Amino acid sequence: EAKTAGRNQVRFFNPQMQAEVSARAAIEADLRAGLKAEQFFLHYQPQVDAQGKLVGAEALVRWRHPEMGLVAPGAFIAVAESTGLILPLGRYIMRCACRQLVAWAEQPQWARLPLAVNISARQFHHPGFVEEVCAVLDETGANPLRLKLELTESLLIENVETMISNMNRLKARGVRFSLDDFGTGYSSLSYLKRLPLDQLKIDQSFVRDLLKDPNDAAIVKTIIALGSSLDLAVIAEGVETKAQCDALIAIGCYQFQGYHFGRPGTVDVLESWSEGYHDHRYAFERQE
Ligand code: C2E
Ligand code: MG
Ligand code: MG
Ligand code: MG
Repeated sequence: EAKTAGRNQVRFFNPQMQAEVSARAAIEADLRAGLKAEQFFLHYQPQVDAQGKLVGAEALVRWRHPEMGLVAPGAFIAVAESTGLILPLGRYIMRCACRQLVAWAEQPQWARLPLAVNISARQFHHPGFVEEVCAVLDETGANPLRLKLELTESLLIENVETMISNMNRLKARGVRFSLDDFGTGYSSLSYLKRLPLDQLKIDQSFVRDLLKDPNDAAIVKTIIALGSSLDLAVIAEGVETKAQCDALIAIGCYQFQGYHFGRPGTVDVLESWSEGYHDHRYAFERQE
């Protein structure tokens, strides 16, 4: 009887749904194996100021899949979140990032560079999150002042009080916070004021059409005004052209991340990018 019902239920799945379910199951199995085999690693993307000087980097996870080659997070973060595998993956990423901070701490030109690490909702709301971050800081010896956690607005909806207190506990250790993809979520202003944030990151969707869509320009201006009244740094992401960069400067945004300045790459790529940065054709050199 139950078996028949079960079989009947299965029939509600159309072939495409079935294919999606098995694709997710395959990704899940590969994720588990990939974690064991340490197939995940970090790329780093430069963040620059209005003089083109390196002011930070964002760590972005990559997967060296045995058959598929290099896989971007868009293809697996959602599955990692829904299966809970984001917890071990996130710990692994945190350890890699903190080890990189320790390696940089020994080189004077890198010692003060902040490194941003993306944290997904499931990770942040996991009860042991604060302790885990502190444990990784202790075990690696990374300077918490150089670690910046990128949270998204969607993450701020649940368990607000617990979330604020967890942010404050990390803040007390020196960890910084940036609000990623800002402008795409639903945070209210009074609420933003209560969060111990350091930075707002203007979502790349507003930067993309900045020159074409006056609404986007208005949104970007509003975010910059908000940042200055809440005393938060503002950085624009997804800056792909000099024209976008000039428009951002005209509006009052002075920190940038995007392909116009540098793509995410291995730590060697970031380091050689930085060494050659005086040779780069920066957006500002003509103005100076
Ligand atoms: P995000 O944190 O908003 O990261 C920015 C994304 O935009 C990155 O994609 C980056 O490579 C890309 N990007 C940078 N500059 C440009 C540009 O000029 N134009 C365009 N079109 N794109 C640009 P990526 O590396 O594929 O990561 C996608 C998302 O996956 C990230 O968005 C973040 O939400 C998530 N993610 C990445 N790494 C991690 C991680 O270590 N942990 C977690 N939980 N999520 C991660
Ligand atoms: Mg990010
Ligand atoms: Mg973003
Ligand atoms: Mg994004």
